[in-house]
Amino acid sequence: MSSSHPRALSADNAHPVPFIDLVAQYQTIRDEVRDAVDRCFETQSFILGEEVALLEQEIAAYCDSQFAIGCASGTDALILALIAAGVKPGDEVITSPFTFFASAGAIHRVGAVPVLVDIEPDSFNLCPEHVERAITSRTTAIMPVHIFGQCAEMEPLWRLSAAFDIPIIEDSAQAIGAEYRGRRTGVLGTIGCFSFFPTKNLGGAGDGGIMTTDDPELAARLRRLRVHGDAGGYNHVEVGFNSRLDALQATVLRVKLRHLDAWTEGRARNAARYAELISASGLSDAIQLPAVMSDRRHVFNQFTTRVTGGRRAAVMQSLKEQQIGCAVYYPIPLHLQKCFACLGYQPGDLPEAERAAAEVLSLPIYTELPTAHLERVVEGLSHALGRHSTLAFPKTTPAIQRRAA
Ligand SMILES: *Cc1c(COP(=O)(O)O)cnc(C)c1O
Repeated sequence: MSSSHPRALSADNAHPVPFIDLVAQYQTIRDEVRDAVDRCFETQSFILGEEVALLEQEIAAYCDSQFAIGCASGTDALILALIAAGVKPGDEVITSPFTFFASAGAIHRVGAVPVLVDIEPDSFNLCPEHVERAITSRTTAIMPVHIFGQCAEMEPLWRLSAAFDIPIIEDSAQAIGAEYRGRRTGVLGTIGCFSFFPTKNLGGAGDGGIMTTDDPELAARLRRLRVHGDAGGYNHVEVGFNSRLDALQATVLRVKLRHLDAWTEGRARNAARYAELISASGLSDAIQLPAVMSDRRHVFNQFTTRVTGGRRAAVMQSLKEQQIGCAVYYPIPLHLQKCFACLGYQPGDLPEAERAAAEVLSLPIYTELPTAHLERVVEGLSHALGRHSTLAFPKTTPAIQRRAA
């Protein structure tokens, strides 16, 4: 190691590192997106139509499902899926407390009770043993959330689903393309629910969502739930919603879907580089890396570390001063949200979710993140932790971790 050119681990405010940079992504696809949007305007066909039908076919092919049904958002996808799966007011649906609000919000919105059970500390995903203990005669669905882009442990959930005849609704909002034992999310349960919120791995130019299933009857019901329960010809067989995917969104998403695998590989490459640099910089005692399970393909919607020893606030403050973006997903577990006080949970009830909420810190992971910026994030962490290593970063980038089924 050269001692003549140590890297200065000091605040370098000349190059702010944004947490996410959608403009950088847009610059790589600007012409394709503009052409597609122009074509859409020329047709003046904005609601459902051919572009949405084509996107549905392409997403079904991508997720290896028989059917895909577009809708207005990931939240709506969850709501429509719960209703189609037969969840009724007063029913219980088991899900994770450590997720974006919509997972439990959707359950509450259909009149059911979110039953929140604790997570596994390494993957941040729903713990199957806790799910099993929470099943009652009123349980009508299990909703695993593939948090941050890595699938939940599914095998035990499949056994519970079969034994108790309870459908699984996947919250795949953060996990398009993620795999569990060689199978894609979207077909790991009865219905898969995806979001096209702009910061998801496949993000639109606004809100959007899609549901996947292999069941033709569920597909038909989801299709009609999004258009006021119309079975065709103003034949309203049930009361549904206005929850359609815009043709403009579908147009943009079809362009972006062609790039999704390359973007996912870029995210995995950045994750591997972080792992290498954080351990080479001697920070592993303070910054715990995300666990990548050997039977899964992690798509890294987020690169979520834990800052141990109660140092998160100080580390965040220092990163902010160094103009390095970072974020906390999620600071308050859902069982402690004010609007769910009615569910009766107390602090301490779900200790792993609470500990995760207190420790997690997500770092910039998007494909377009320049290597120099990624290195600056790790230098910034060193600085924040008061480490003054003069380690020169190794220049090799390891091959992308690709998990066998
Ligand atoms: C983004 C997200 C949703 C909701 O998606 P919207 O399209 O924003 O409605 C649901 N669940 C999880 C885990 C999410 O990350």
